[in-house]
Amino acid sequence: MSTVAVKLQENVPGKYYVTNECNGCGICFSYALQNFMYSNDSTYYFVYQQPADVREEEDVLRAMEICPMNCIKDDGVVS
Ligand code: SF4
Repeated sequence: MSTVAVKLQENVPGKYYVTNECNGCGICFSYALQNFMYSNDSTYYFVYQQPADVREEEDVLRAMEICPMNCIKDDGVVS
């Protein structure tokens, strides 16, 4: 049985977002401190701030690559 991933409501508007498949491991946060934040109960993370420059975007892309749940997505629009 497969479930459909849903974009978390906490994500700020913009290209990058986290889905409800997040397991709360926090790896993304360690890679991109400026861009991810944890939920109130610390069970999942979301995009807190879209990348402000190339360096932050590289951090987010690295987090996307390493995320064990593959639940950091982008909307495919070139920024
Ligand atoms: S790395 Fe992926 S699974 Fe881990 S907290 Fe971040 S978004 Fe969630």
